[in-house]
Amino acid sequence: MKLARVTKKGNRSFYIEFMLMTLAPLIVCGIVMIVVCSESISKAMKAEVSDNLKNVALSVHLAYDMRYPGDWEVKSEGDNLEDVVLYKGGVPVSDDYDFIDEIKEESQLEISIFFMDTRLLTTLRGNDGERLEMTVASEKIVDEVYRGEASVFYDNVKIASSDYYAYYTPILSNDGSQCLGMIGVAKPSQSLKDIINGSINKNVLVMILGILVTSFFITRFANALVTIVKHMLDFMKALSANRLDVKLDATVAQREDELGEMGRNLNNLQIALRRLIERDVLTGLFNRRSAEKRIDDIEASGVKYCVAIGDIDHFKEFNDTFGHECGDVVLREVALLLNEGMNSREGFVARWGGEEFLLVFSNAGIDEAFDALMLIRQALHDKEVEYDGQIHKVTMTFGVAEKTEDIPINHLIRNADDKLYEGKQGGRDRVII
Ligand code: GH3
Ligand code: MG
Ligand code: MG
Repeated sequence: MKLARVTKKGNRSFYIEFMLMTLAPLIVCGIVMIVVCSESISKAMKAEVSDNLKNVALSVHLAYDMRYPGDWEVKSEGDNLEDVVLYKGGVPVSDDYDFIDEIKEESQLEISIFFMDTRLLTTLRGNDGERLEMTVASEKIVDEVYRGEASVFYDNVKIASSDYYAYYTPILSNDGSQCLGMIGVAKPSQSLKDIINGSINKNVLVMILGILVTSFFITRFANALVTIVKHMLDFMKALSANRLDVKLDATVAQREDELGEMGRNLNNLQIALRRLIERDVLTGLFNRRSAEKRIDDIEASGVKYCVAIGDIDHFKEFNDTFGHECGDVVLREVALLLNEGMNSREGFVARWGGEEFLLVFSNAGIDEAFDALMLIRQALHDKEVEYDGQIHKVTMTFGVAEKTEDIPINHLIRNADDKLYEGKQGGRDRVII
C-alpha cells in the first residue's frame, strides 16, 4: 500500500502540474476578460445609442411644439383607422411629410408618430419604398409605452423584417389624462452591431495574442525548469545507485538563481559523499575499498603496473610508549609523506589497514617502482615527527611485486606482502623486490 503510494507520487509530472497551475488560470482569466470586455463594450455602445435616441425623441416633441404650438389631438372622420387625423395646435399633421422628413434628415434616425398602437406618420419605408403607415407596434411596446405611459429603450425591435434600436415615448393629451399615441425613434441596429462586433473582435484578438505570447514564455520557462530539475534528478538517482563518478550537467551549477545554488550544493554533496566513501578518515588517503576498485580500473586499462605494501616499523611502540594519539600523528605524517612521494608519479597510495599502506605504480616496471620507493624510504628515514615536544624517528619496510599476465590481483598483493615479510625479517627500513 505504502509502495503503491510512493510509486504514484513518483509518476506525477512536475511539468504537467506547473503548466496546469499557470496556463489554466491564464486561459480561464482570458476567457472571462473577453466575455466581460465584450459585454462592457456592447453595453456602453447601447447606452450611447439609447441616449441619442432619447434626445432625438425629446427633440421631436420640441420640434412639433415649436412648429405647431398647442395640444396633440386626434379626430376621426370615419370608422376606420385610415380616417383618423392627428392634430397639433389645431393643425392636421398626419400628412405633413416634409416636416418629419426634415427631422429625419437632421437626426439621421427614423421617426414614427403612432395613434394608439398604429403608425399614422412615419419616415420608415418598406422594401417597396412605401411608407410603413398603418403598421402596428408590438404588443410589448404598446403595453409598456402606450398603456404604461413610460418612455422605453428597446435594443431589438423588428420593423418590416429589419432589426432596430428604438426609443418610444408616449404622446399625452394636454391635461395628461389620456395617452393618445407614441413617438418612436429608431436606428437600424445592424450597422452598430457590426461596429460593436468589430471592436469586440479586435479586443478578443489582442487578448488571444496576449494569452499566446504569455503561454509561449511560460512554456519556455517550464521546459527550462523541467530540464534543470531532470538533470538534478538523474544526478541524485545516480548517486543513490552508488555511481559516484557521475557528473551533474554543467549548465545547472552555472545558473545564478536558487536552482544553480542547489546544483552547486549537489556537487559539494557529491564531493563530501565521495570523500566519506572513498577516503580514510584519519589520513585522508584512499581507503582499502576504493584502492581495490582503483586497481581493478588499472587492471582493466591493460597498462603495466607494480604494487607495494609498506608497513611502519615497530609502530606498536609509538602507541605503547607515547599513547595512541602519538600513533595517529605518526600515521598522518607518514601518509602525507607517501602522498608527496607519489605526487609526480602515475598511480596512487592508500591506507591498506592499521599501519600498512598500499602503493600502486601504474605505467611502471619493477625497477622504476623500486627507485621511487627507495627515495620515499629515505625521505621517511630522514623525517622527524614531532609529538608533544619530542622528536620521533620513523622507518618503513616495503615489499614490491610486478604485475604479470597470469597473476591475479590478490596473488600479486600477497607476493608484495611476502616481500614485506622478507624485509621485516631482514632488519626493516628497506625495499624488497
Ligand atoms: P613491525 O615492525 O613488525 O611492523 O611491528 P609493529 O609494532 O609495527 O607491528 P604490530 O602489528 O605489532 O603493531 C601494529 C599496531 O598498529 C597495532 C595497532 O594497535 C596499531 N594500530 C593500528 N591502527 C591504528 C590506528 O589507527 N591508530 C593507532 N594509533 N594505532 C593503530
Ligand atoms: Mg603491520
Ligand atoms: Mg608495523
